[in-house]
Amino acid sequence: MNRRAQFLEVLGIATEWVPRERNDAPAEAVPATATAPVAQAPAAATAAPLAPVAAVIADVAEPVSARVKPLARAPAAPSLVPAVPEPGSAQADREAAIATMDWPALDAAVAGCTACGLCQTRTQTVFGVGDRQAEWMLVGEAPGENEDLQGEPFVGQAGKLLDNMLGALGLARGRNVFIANVLKCRPPGNRNPEPEEVAQCEPFLRRQIALVRPRVIVVLGRFAAQTLLRTTTPIGKLRGTVHAYEGIPVVVTYHPAYLLRTLTDKARAWEDLCLAREVHDRAGAGA
Ligand code: SF4
Repeated sequence: MNRRAQFLEVLGIATEWVPRERNDAPAEAVPATATAPVAQAPAAATAAPLAPVAAVIADVAEPVSARVKPLARAPAAPSLVPAVPEPGSAQADREAAIATMDWPALDAAVAGCTACGLCQTRTQTVFGVGDRQAEWMLVGEAPGENEDLQGEPFVGQAGKLLDNMLGALGLARGRNVFIANVLKCRPPGNRNPEPEEVAQCEPFLRRQIALVRPRVIVVLGRFAAQTLLRTTTPIGKLRGTVHAYEGIPVVVTYHPAYLLRTLTDKARAWEDLCLAREVHDRAGAGA
């Protein structure tokens, strides 16, 4: 079974779709999400594992470049968006210090961090894992129970699904992908993160992204997407568009834990990863 077929099986998509022909039907006849299953893909399309990505995303009406939205410093949303610290304040000094750290310093700073109340309930910090020169970066919300115990993001069933999704893209944990969360400590009972916790922790993620300098960031889930993109827009509306964080293209998709529960959105996750692949390849072509 090739990678594409494996991916679709992992996502629970029994029937493979092929892109509809351009101009073969009015745009409104098929939803933009194009999740309708159609006939089996032709053999040629399955021969090369990632070649069909371009074919699938060719279904999207606009080219990626036309869908890029500069959101690196978009207006602040009220809930999760950290306030910009006053110049000269202790928080501003802290963020400035983090912004100059190398990997060992950042590692140590996270491991010893007590900047928010989550330090009191964590088992350990979860720094992130993977290739520190990766072209891909995946960003989730926060460690859960298993992550807190093991010190690694995305373990357990959701982690397995994520690993399979990565495999379908020709990636693997530790090979050309770095995985991190917005928060490095587990919120008790997996509750939603508080704005103050995000404010204290996001500088670590920002520095990780600056050190990795990936070609593309794939954001997993509503919380991480809204935090990074400084918005309260629902995830369903953030998908399908290329955003930016600190000048790096961002593609939003669903959190693997959500996908485990929600069959209907698994096909959309495939579309998102196809878009991310296109963005990655275009960034490489322009490098
Ligand atoms: S969540 Fe982040 S800011 Fe809070 S204690 Fe952990 S590492 Fe520090």
